[in-house]
Amino acid sequence: MVIIMIIPRIHNEKNTGSFFTLPLVIKTFCADDPGERAVGLFRYFVPQASFMKVNSRKDAQIIFECRYDLDITDEAYTISASSLPIIVRYRDFGGARNAAATIAQLLKRGGASYLFPNTEIEDAPDAKMRMILLDPARNLIPMPRMKDLLIMIAMAKFNFVHLHLSDSEGYAIKSDVVHFPGHYGLQYTKDEVREIVRFASMLGIECIPEVEFPGHGTTLVEEYPDTRCVPDITSDVTPTKWNMCAGSEETYRVLELLYTELAELFPGKLIHVGTDEIDMKDHPELVPTWHCCSRCREMCEREGIDPDNVTEVFYYMTRRVYKIITGLGKRMMLWNDNIDIAKTPELPRDILIDFWRIAAPNRGPREGCTYERFLEEGFEVVNCHFVETYVERNRLTDEQLSKWTPHNVPEHDPKYNRQILGGGPCAWDDPITSGHFEWSLPSSIMLFGDRLWNAAEYGYDSEYGRACSRWMFGIKTPADFNMFEAFGIFQQPRNIDGRRMWGNKAATDLAPTDAVLAQLENDYSVGGRLATAYRRSIKWLNEKRAENPDFN
Ligand SMILES: [Zn+2]
Repeated sequence: MVIIMIIPRIHNEKNTGSFFTLPLVIKTFCADDPGERAVGLFRYFVPQASFMKVNSRKDAQIIFECRYDLDITDEAYTISASSLPIIVRYRDFGGARNAAATIAQLLKRGGASYLFPNTEIEDAPDAKMRMILLDPARNLIPMPRMKDLLIMIAMAKFNFVHLHLSDSEGYAIKSDVVHFPGHYGLQYTKDEVREIVRFASMLGIECIPEVEFPGHGTTLVEEYPDTRCVPDITSDVTPTKWNMCAGSEETYRVLELLYTELAELFPGKLIHVGTDEIDMKDHPELVPTWHCCSRCREMCEREGIDPDNVTEVFYYMTRRVYKIITGLGKRMMLWNDNIDIAKTPELPRDILIDFWRIAAPNRGPREGCTYERFLEEGFEVVNCHFVETYVERNRLTDEQLSKWTPHNVPEHDPKYNRQILGGGPCAWDDPITSGHFEWSLPSSIMLFGDRLWNAAEYGYDSEYGRACSRWMFGIKTPADFNMFEAFGIFQQPRNIDGRRMWGNKAATDLAPTDAVLAQLENDYSVGGRLATAYRRSIKWLNEKRAENPDFN
């Protein structure tokens, strides 16, 4: 028996090593809505193949069948393909979608028909929340590119996309209620946002919108001067623009307008409210000026808070914003680094903690703070620890990534694992200063999708490379083609100026890879467009080598 490898790797699969044939137009039957919707996704997952819905089971080669009585978890599915028809079972749309993504990779072109392996599959995700952060606040990803990314994200069986929509540079949405300009003047219209949400939802992905408070607030504070602290007459400190004023009602009025609009645009359950990097003593202009602001001091006196205690003032603001978010029927999610978790924080425990780091020196509470303390305090957590998940940082090696799961690092007592809902990669980006994600993001999506779905360790060998190549470029990819041999690493070029762009094993003769990609790019599909992007990266590498033969 040969193990059939697709991305993400299947949990349980038994095949005979043989194949049966399917016609070039594959007939599908489904008697339920989740199956109907999942079958509709074949045109995105495997655009080279033709599918036709039929009205009778006996005419179909693939039957999608929702079975609520099945003893399987959410998003799980089974595929029984020992003979025709192939029977696909699931109990929710997530399961049906995941099955469709699997079938799209199992199909092989065999002359005037398709080949499908004779196999029995049982598969389910290891992590409940499999998410990826995209950064439209700094990099307004054009709509067609956003759709390509969402298709790849769905193919890798992610179920959440975290959209970082606001930052100190601006807001990615053209709001009707708040004047909040975009970075480089670029913004999505609300209709475009609705289209992103609709397209993602069709693909089985929920969007989590993020608007930041109180830090990273420069643009908003400039637009709404009353959200800025006012200097106490006894102080000569210049009020910061980075952090919003904790004592000004204008702060909460503007935030409520933004979150209310956001809640209307995003039907999902979660709203992310930022809260990272609010006390950066290594940058004096980014330190809160709450202690010397007359409005903040007045609020602190009223609430019995020490105005010099940044943490307590931050908790007050967080509780105010929590009321706004829960009032909208949503669950609040936030970055963890300003919670002093060494002590029990006065914060509601149904806040979902997005763990990215224990604060760096001079950038927030550190002493006694650990990942495990959040779990011990009863919070649920998603793991986006920057060391293992920030894909723009050139730090991750293949070896490191091939072992990562949201449940193994940072260190913690495994008894808390059920509180770790998942995690995933973060693709922070400003296209002017980096601009590398056209090449690097697809491989990150694919590799993290695998780690989140299937926690079993697996070395990134050449069989894995061939499966990755098929995942990226589609079913016309030659069976023995491993594009990652050419690049020497699985995570693709990461930095446009060339620093640590390539593994030291990269092939010097890139012509064969270029030739296969040239054939594949004629397919009008995500895989074809990706082939074009990778051909450009090969051309770039060859130019660099022509300038400097030792370039790597
Ligand atoms: Zn203030």
